[in-house]
Amino acid sequence: MSQSRFNAIDTILNRPVDEFTAYGMPSEKISEFYGVNVFNDEAMQQYMPEEAYLSVKAAIQAGANLSREVADVVAGAMKQWAMERGATHYAHWFQPWTGKTAEKHDSFFTLSSNGKAIEEFGGNELAQQEPDGSSFPGGGLRSTFEARGYTAWDPSSPAFLFEVGEGKTLCIPTILVTYSGQAMDFKLPLLKSISALEVAALPVVRWFDPQVSRVTVTLGWEQEYFLVDEALFNARPDLMITGRTLIGKLATKGQELEDHYFGSIPERVFAFMRDLETECHRLGIPVRTRHNEVGPGQYELAPMFEEVNVAVDHNQLLMDLMDRMARRHHLRVLLHEKPFAGVNGSGKHNNWSMGTNTGKNLLSPGAQPGKNLRFLTFFVNTIMAVYDHADLLRASVASASNDHRLGANEAPPAIVSIFIGTVMYNILRQIEKGETTKEDVKVVLNLLSKIPDLEKDNTDRNRTSPFAFTGNKFEVRMVGSHQNCAAPMTVLNAIMADQLQRFHKDVTRQQETGKDRDAAILTVLKGYIRKSRHILFEGDNYSQAWEEEAARRGLGNYKTTPEALEAYVTRKSIRLFKDTKVFTDREAHAFHEVQLHKYSTTIEIESNTLEELCLNYVIPGALDYQTRLAQNIVQMKEAGFDKHDLTFSRDMVKRIAKNINAMHDLIGQMHEARTRARALEESKEMALVYCHEVKVLMSRLRQHADDLELIVDDREWGLVKYRELMYLR
Ligand code: ADP
Ligand code: MG
Repeated sequence: MSQSRFNAIDTILNRPVDEFTAYGMPSEKISEFYGVNVFNDEAMQQYMPEEAYLSVKAAIQAGANLSREVADVVAGAMKQWAMERGATHYAHWFQPWTGKTAEKHDSFFTLSSNGKAIEEFGGNELAQQEPDGSSFPGGGLRSTFEARGYTAWDPSSPAFLFEVGEGKTLCIPTILVTYSGQAMDFKLPLLKSISALEVAALPVVRWFDPQVSRVTVTLGWEQEYFLVDEALFNARPDLMITGRTLIGKLATKGQELEDHYFGSIPERVFAFMRDLETECHRLGIPVRTRHNEVGPGQYELAPMFEEVNVAVDHNQLLMDLMDRMARRHHLRVLLHEKPFAGVNGSGKHNNWSMGTNTGKNLLSPGAQPGKNLRFLTFFVNTIMAVYDHADLLRASVASASNDHRLGANEAPPAIVSIFIGTVMYNILRQIEKGETTKEDVKVVLNLLSKIPDLEKDNTDRNRTSPFAFTGNKFEVRMVGSHQNCAAPMTVLNAIMADQLQRFHKDVTRQQETGKDRDAAILTVLKGYIRKSRHILFEGDNYSQAWEEEAARRGLGNYKTTPEALEAYVTRKSIRLFKDTKVFTDREAHAFHEVQLHKYSTTIEIESNTLEELCLNYVIPGALDYQTRLAQNIVQMKEAGFDKHDLTFSRDMVKRIAKNINAMHDLIGQMHEARTRARALEESKEMALVYCHEVKVLMSRLRQHADDLELIVDDREWGLVKYRELMYLR
């Protein structure tokens, strides 16, 4: 029988206390070291001649290309800045469709033509690198003879210094494209969507505020995660390989008492958090909020919001940092959406809004009643965009792991609906009813002037909603905890861009009929409110009644990833991607293909891991116990006890045998289903077999394993139990 569980428990109980303290708590104030590892505006100013600095800034602000000469100057400044801080290497840092970040390190060191060792880093190296991209998923965008991928510098996200032990690397945020310039990463489509949204939003904003010259998208994410002790983690092959527990009887206490939520943070976890925050601050990630979450061993971290491009990079960087920092504290961070059955999973709320260069949040009602038509415009257009493309938004958060939240009995559900709160709900209903005469515009503006109270009213929240208006931003709650925020943000930006373009046209058409602009805007908004009303839902998204009601309303309910992903390649979405230039037809299909493939591979790996767990841990442990029970029966009989006295042992022997034989049978079936799935040519068909057959067999297997865990002698159970994973630290 495996000893790993008992060794792990011993390890934890004997951990030296100094592992529970923060290792590098700086004595200074955060403001004194915030951003020291970022090649930010201040560093640029310090390390570059003024003229070059100004032209870089101007180019970044205008989203324009930099000349080669300027790139050379930037590269020289970066090199000097980084080397003064001990960097030896630079890396293009990018976000391929694997979902993880990737980096290829090159040394500054090189040999000059006369063989002398020098350090070099020029505009060429800054602007472009050629990692051997043949192993990054491209969904058939590249043929094998043209496997090269290129990374290209994204000047809108600042370079940073990444420290691993004593090693320091200058990391340059980049995009990854194929030889012919097609996207192979999350960043290029995101950047395109930001620009599409800006182009569409500007003419609309200018109706209200002619001075606005830039519209940016803002994102504030909230990252949920679990922490477990490293020794326990290593004694669970499923956690190690798949990031979640594939079997495990629920602990007799989970989150029922709700005693973990916002509870006091355990000392060891607190030390981890402080070290993580210090690293974040050094890297310019503005984290602010930390607290316990609902699940035992679950926590949350949130920063101040930033421009979406930088916020996405920061979240990716954070996930990497979390992992490294947890290891230093002999902990492991679990970013999987559902590490444990029976307790809450982890999500990553994406708070999304738009702002102007004049400092206005376009989703903030604001204090000036006259400006509230602007708020109403962006508010209603967001609702309309989500109404129109709800399926695509759902698809953007689809993954094998997120299916455990969205497709299962957990909030938020797979049905996309919007919660706006009673105040806004009532205002929309009143607007819908009114006329659009000049008088009416006044009435509506008057109504809207009462909204600012809303921001203060935090009680009016609906935690079960997948997409909620929270005072001055919309919060996408469907995003998975391990996911790259770029996917849902790209979709949200794109559908909003598309919607605003239509809005502009619709209003212009109304004006041509002689209406003044405010009346024209109100007429169009009223139409949208009426049309999109079905997506508004204020009730409990978790309930069976809502599922039925949503079906009556005709809302999509795609519980599984293979079904949900289809929205990426519908005619409607392809048209949208083309108009907003976010994806070409081929790119959209490639992305779809990559996601389907990832889904199938994930389940394949889980299924293989489960099979091993059953064969190597569960069944051997159960057999040992069964043998002891059988010996007990023989000895009892020999000692002259009658049948009656043997009832427990006999029943248990039978129950064990029944479970083991059923598992044996299910493993065979699972094997067969996997083989059949793998043989399928078409990615979606393959994914469907994994989804509707392999996964089903996996959960049936789990039931038997969990029943065995319940009855088998604790000493014979070699796999770390839920109660240990959740409560030992
Ligand atoms: P919650 O109750 O959901 O935790 P908070 O008020 O703590 O809500 O805010 C959550 C997140 O919303 C934070 O990351 C914050 O930075 C972000 N946020 C606030 N305003 C905006 C905005 N205008 N755009 C994007 N995100 C925002
Ligand atoms: Mg939130």
